Amino acid sequence: MYNLPKPYLSHSQVSCYQMCPKQYWYRYIHKQIEEPIFAVLSFGTCYHAAMEFNFRHKLTYLTDRPVEEVVTYFLERWSKCQHAIFEEGQSWAKHVNLGISLVTKYMEDYAPQVNPIMVEQKHEMEIGEGLLFQGVLDLYTTERKVIDFKTAAKAWSSSKARESDQLTGYAMLAFDLTANWPTCTEIHCAVKEGEGSIKVVDGGPRFPYHIDDYKKTLHSTARDISEGIFYKDTSGWICQKDRCPYFTDCMHG
Ligand code: SF4
Repeated sequence: MYNLPKPYLSHSQVSCYQMCPKQYWYRYIHKQIEEPIFAVLSFGTCYHAAMEFNFRHKLTYLTDRPVEEVVTYFLERWSKCQHAIFEEGQSWAKHVNLGISLVTKYMEDYAPQVNPIMVEQKHEMEIGEGLLFQGVLDLYTTERKVIDFKTAAKAWSSSKARESDQLTGYAMLAFDLTANWPTCTEIHCAVKEGEGSIKVVDGGPRFPYHIDDYKKTLHSTARDISEGIFYKDTSGWICQKDRCPYFTDCMHG
């Protein structure tokens, strides 16, 4: 049995720990520093919510919502994010048109081909030694395809998607839920470059050896957390003042 701050591990916990164990400690154990609201995350959350708004409807009525309804939903959410922290050269207003463009493109060109049987499906499974893994599947389709939505400055490469532990985790959850292997995985990437574009990135299938490797990663992370290994890793891209919410405290601690 492991000694973890939450009763389960999720992919976001594992990737936080892999980026910097000290950051994991601040976020999940110390919990004393309030995290600022970064616009890059808020924008992704609003886009994601708009997709969920459409596909939950489609799950029941087998048809997409009108594009304008989904755009309006996005804008309602985004209007609440005016005080988020923007990167240099960016602003809330600039993201209004970008959001309209991305949601419209996805709804017109991609959503009609997606037929979900699960939307934002939360699931928890035991992966041995009492360790629970929890995740939320963005979409699982009638073709047994795992789809994950991302917003990113640049499109994901296929090699990045094929090596994605997150997609492996979702494939593992889909198998546990349905007793069938997903046929493939995809990242539906809303690319924020220029006027915005949508790129569907093939993440390939997942096989039992992918799942076994990922379970080993989950167990070794759970072991390190249980043993209290929380060193500072200053080598990653995240270790900067405007990226790590704990930077000031950490660097002076
Ligand atoms: S400032 Fe750097 S070392 Fe400290 S928690 Fe953040 S990422 Fe880790």
